[in-house]
Amino acid sequence: HANIDWLESRVKISPTREAIIDAETHESWSYERLHHRAVILANYLLANGIQKGDRVAILAPNHISYLDFIFACMKTGAIFVPLNWRLSENELEYVITDCQPKLIGVDPTFREKIGNSNDDMILLDIKSNKYVDNLLAEPQSFQTEILETDPLAMIYTGGTTGRPKGVVLSHRSILWNALNTITSWNLNEEDVTLTCLPMFHTGGLNVYTLPLLLVGGKVVISSSFQAEKAVKDLIRYRCTVVLFVPTMYHMIIQTRQFREATFPDMKVFVSGGAPCPHKIYDAFQKKGIAFKEGYGLTEAGPNNFFIEPSDTKEKLGSVGKPMLFNDIKIVKDDGAKAGPNEVGELLLRGYHSFEFYWNKPIETKETIIDGWIHTGDLAKQDDDGYVYIVGRKKDMIITGGENVYPLEIEHWLESHEGIMEAAVIGLPDDKWGEVVTAFVVVKNNLAQDELRAYCEQKLTRYKIPKQFYFLNELPKTHVGKINKALLKKRTMEDVAG
Ligand code: ATP
Repeated sequence: HANIDWLESRVKISPTREAIIDAETHESWSYERLHHRAVILANYLLANGIQKGDRVAILAPNHISYLDFIFACMKTGAIFVPLNWRLSENELEYVITDCQPKLIGVDPTFREKIGNSNDDMILLDIKSNKYVDNLLAEPQSFQTEILETDPLAMIYTGGTTGRPKGVVLSHRSILWNALNTITSWNLNEEDVTLTCLPMFHTGGLNVYTLPLLLVGGKVVISSSFQAEKAVKDLIRYRCTVVLFVPTMYHMIIQTRQFREATFPDMKVFVSGGAPCPHKIYDAFQKKGIAFKEGYGLTEAGPNNFFIEPSDTKEKLGSVGKPMLFNDIKIVKDDGAKAGPNEVGELLLRGYHSFEFYWNKPIETKETIIDGWIHTGDLAKQDDDGYVYIVGRKKDMIITGGENVYPLEIEHWLESHEGIMEAAVIGLPDDKWGEVVTAFVVVKNNLAQDELRAYCEQKLTRYKIPKQFYFLNELPKTHVGKINKALLKKRTMEDVAG
């Protein structure tokens, strides 16, 4: 048992420092005021019979209420569940039925998505930043005993590989992800970030937002992402660190604002959530701006590695070395440890690990084995200890008995100046088992033969896609990752006629 309410402790250290800015209304809150909001909400939860272990959800664009909720849960022991507002009504129904929240903080824009809520569920309108002022409840003392391994938040995964799974993160896992990030990434109270990535996803909530609030920094919350505005906000608020997913970087580097900006305050831009095309690295390197790639997953932090931006040129494509408090292991199919530069599954272990999947004991047992999280991702580590993510295990293609990692081919295709985006999958084939198939978004017309010849310059024969499909855009998941499962399903249906 430990003092787990670290916002309360932070207030004692820096009560008047600015903690949050709303990028739309320009309102700001000090640590003291942020904490005060959490106290009011926590009292309201208790007054409404919400107890330790009960779920309280949010369905809203990025907003200060996300922080009110998580810090109120830190006091009461309730479990915070940020819901993905991009889900369809059916998908949302699945998630709500799975987690059974006692209360949902909802932006009225999304009210209809919830359908008929049951009588036991409280719906709280949180649209205005001032919603907390209307919450009337007698002040109480928060005496519930909360253990550091008790759940604090449950984040549903992106659903890239199937139904969303509720990843239960304890007070300890969130704290240790923050501590790990602060120490390994060198964050301090002068740091400022812009949070555009959805806060219902671990990227928006845990990569920079909570670590910066632990260390006394500043978080600028933006309710949506728009490339030009994001660049302007980074400059206006003198941000020092930021995370975007590659899809967002694609848009950012094409803006006039990016081309003209020098970003004097920025320590580093971070890409994460999906493999980062080398063109994005190049765009930053040409401008002499620090850029690095991070790797993570909802189940582990998500932050796991660090790399000095000055190393990214020599170690292109590496996510770096393990953070201070993160054990890693790369194992081959036979369970043996992979040697240097050998590909195997990446296993992670540390206090930042999740506790279990909500209502999914079998999946939990399959994922956490002897304390190690089996990430389902393939990786290799070079002689100097730098780790490279090779791709998802499920995405690996076996063609004529040879293993093919789509990422290598995608990186090569995307290095072609006429190709904007590429995705490579394996399609079932009677003769080869699977055949390598590429989907590309091109700037101008390109012929199959041209692309094949380009691949021959670099790739071994069996890695060269047998078929190229030209698309206007690649299907993406709710958090902007390429949806390979959908690509495969659609193509197989088309082929079957
Ligand atoms: P689901 O688990 O439901 O399939 P998801 O995989 O999208 O959803 P997240 O936790 O959002 O869930 O994403 C984690 C995954 O994203 C990792 O396991 C990895 O496959 C991928 N990923 C994250 N960062 C990188 C990176 N830098 N390079 C390659 N892949 C990455």
